[in-house]
Amino acid sequence: MAPTVPAPLDGKKRRIGVMTSGGDAPGMNGAVRAVVRMAIHNNCEAFAIYEGYDGLVKGGDMIKEMHWEDVRGFLSEGGTLIGTARCMEFMQREGRRTAAKNLIIKGIDAIIICGGDGSLTGADRFRDEWPSLLEELIQRKELTKEQVDPFRHLNIVGLVGSIDNDLSMTDATIGCYTSLARICEAIDSVDTTAVSHQRAFVIEVMGRHCGWLALSAGVATGADFVFTPENPPHPGWEQEMLKQIKKQRDLGKRKTIVVVAEGAIDRNLKKITCEQVKDVLANEGKLDTRITTLGHVQRGGTPSAYDRMLATLQGAEAVRAVLEATPETPSPVICVQENKIVRRSLLEAVAQTKEVSVAIENKDFERAMQLRDTEFAEQYQAYHITTAANLPELLLPEEKRMRVGIIHVGAPAGGMNAATRAAVAYCIARGHTPVALHNGFPGIIRHHSDEPVGAVRDIKWVDAETWASKGGSEIGTNRGLPSEDLETCAFVFKKYNIQSLFVVGGFEAFTAVSELRKAREHYKSFKIPMVIVPATISNNVPGTEYSIGSDTCLNALIQYSDACRQSASASRRRVFVIETQGGESGYIATVAGLSIGALAVYTPEDGINLKMLDRDIDHLASVFRKDQGISRSGKVILVNEKASKTYSVQMIAQMIAEAGKGKFESRHGVPGHFQQGTTPSPMDRCRAVRFATKAMQHMEQFIGQDPDEIDDDPMSISVVGIKGSKLLFSPMEQVEKKETEWHRRRPKHEFWMALKETVDTLSGRPQAPKNP
Ligand code: ATP
Repeated sequence: MAPTVPAPLDGKKRRIGVMTSGGDAPGMNGAVRAVVRMAIHNNCEAFAIYEGYDGLVKGGDMIKEMHWEDVRGFLSEGGTLIGTARCMEFMQREGRRTAAKNLIIKGIDAIIICGGDGSLTGADRFRDEWPSLLEELIQRKELTKEQVDPFRHLNIVGLVGSIDNDLSMTDATIGCYTSLARICEAIDSVDTTAVSHQRAFVIEVMGRHCGWLALSAGVATGADFVFTPENPPHPGWEQEMLKQIKKQRDLGKRKTIVVVAEGAIDRNLKKITCEQVKDVLANEGKLDTRITTLGHVQRGGTPSAYDRMLATLQGAEAVRAVLEATPETPSPVICVQENKIVRRSLLEAVAQTKEVSVAIENKDFERAMQLRDTEFAEQYQAYHITTAANLPELLLPEEKRMRVGIIHVGAPAGGMNAATRAAVAYCIARGHTPVALHNGFPGIIRHHSDEPVGAVRDIKWVDAETWASKGGSEIGTNRGLPSEDLETCAFVFKKYNIQSLFVVGGFEAFTAVSELRKAREHYKSFKIPMVIVPATISNNVPGTEYSIGSDTCLNALIQYSDACRQSASASRRRVFVIETQGGESGYIATVAGLSIGALAVYTPEDGINLKMLDRDIDHLASVFRKDQGISRSGKVILVNEKASKTYSVQMIAQMIAEAGKGKFESRHGVPGHFQQGTTPSPMDRCRAVRFATKAMQHMEQFIGQDPDEIDDDPMSISVVGIKGSKLLFSPMEQVEKKETEWHRRRPKHEFWMALKETVDTLSGRPQAPKNP
């Protein structure tokens, strides 16, 4: 007898299954949470398919309806709470036929699969075969035609969950940045002992077919040599590696770190092992060498802020893709390109990924590199140029070399030092002279009036070499602007023959460079190329959607919020009202809200009013009512420091406590400077290196031009940044005039405003009224 099959839901409503498959990756739970809640928000029903394809093949209780509360707390959990497995039965047609039957029995006609390329290949095959699988089920009398008819079309959407970051067409996979964070923590720890004993360490990291983890770890930690599958070293690599390491040791470096991807090979496809590398370093290089294999710690644990955000935004987008799909829509995979969530063809993404392996097998390494995303190739280039001190082929002829002023402006932000280190290494590789302008503009102004000596100094490679992972600002930073004394600034530029300016900082840096631009007509020494590398935790620099330091800040904030929430689970129902930094920009509050699942986020853009508070307190009460007996976890409300002049976090916390009438209580917290973070996040470090390298290359274009020619070119003063899916330079004058809300110290268009709705939707918050 055929089993009962539920009727399809009315109209556009769907029953959507979500599963995690293949190797687990941090952030998968965030994706499940987003899919479940977004589906429910759109009046659909959500089902979790437990243990990957195994659950699909087994059916029954392995496919369970999920309710809003079922995914509470998922965001901060590592691994996957709905389980994953490698399923051999699904590789067989019979297994897929049974899976099809199980889906129909549950009335599900759309599935969202979070996994690696294997899982997505399986998904695509399943959709491809779906019509014929249904025919077989009818022929075999397992289901009737009437039962099958409403489910003729299966929609599949892929989410890429993998620590390896190995899928083509996406810059990042869910989990890869958390894994990278674990790797960098380990290398940073090994670093200190390496320096103490002047040792060499060979670190093996995961990545059978993809070198992203190895390369990014190399960039973020300033490793000496990196081995990856896509870009194997040339024959004679042993001597090349030794030569490079010797050169750096001669310059005063006390440690050597070599990162080897699990799948590292040479150009003849022969595996390069850690033992082999160690033997070369120990026997020929005479270095005291150790091997550290990181193993499963790289699977991640608690997801990083970025992975939580990516998983949440992509999970929500996957549900949108299901709802917009027609029977003809090809299966999409949700990707990210720079800063933009995009849909790409699942089939093409999988095919392109497989092509990488084929290219490697055919020893076509150039092709293998092309098939990876642009960030990967640029990262390689940046790594190469910032590691290879004094390679003759990189050196520019004498007449093309510049003296590059490097200055930090504003508050410290994670990654400022990494950017500076990369700029210094780049300069030295090309023959330029990097010159530190210490302690910002006031530093050089005071220097001239003869107070502290040494505010302008050439930087040696070995001085900057250890800065890759350091927080704060090694050359000193200051909020002061050149307008304090433009005359002296111009004089100092002239005196030290500063021929281009590399400025690292936030809105103050932007303001400072704007002043220099305007002063060009009076001071010839400002008619030099200048680039701002945006670095501020507030992420409010016009001309870019991403500033170095903002990711470090988000990670610090989620750590703080997770700790608060955890403390509540041990006590009672408690609401934490946490004040975030961010100045007049609600970016940090909003994205942290997305990453921790905040109940409400208050930003300066929307302000705070009584009605808003009233609604949110009502909402809180209803959440706690529904929650009874289920969990004792705390709730978090994030309030930007400038969201309101009237309602402080303390006052909001008191209002909540008052309304809680003993049923729930509240506390306020101000993490303050904790938000600047300690060690910069790998994302900030890697992007710092990328921005710095690009900025230097950009400034090199002006070599040989006379000052007036430089002045005439709007691109000679610009901001490097990410806008949408592109990394680009924006001319300062245009950004100042068209893109800047000066009095609020933020860009006019804030791309992240659209994310607020997702924060509210996923926390079930009623639509907040705006300030009149
Ligand atoms: P990771 O990147 O962590 O390895 P993955 O998704 O690539 O993740 P796989 O083990 O390759 O992991 O695939 C997971 C599951 O997907 C397999 O166990 C199998 O059930 C299914 N699958 C993979 N490839 C296919 C295929 N060609 N046809 C059908 N099912 C497949």
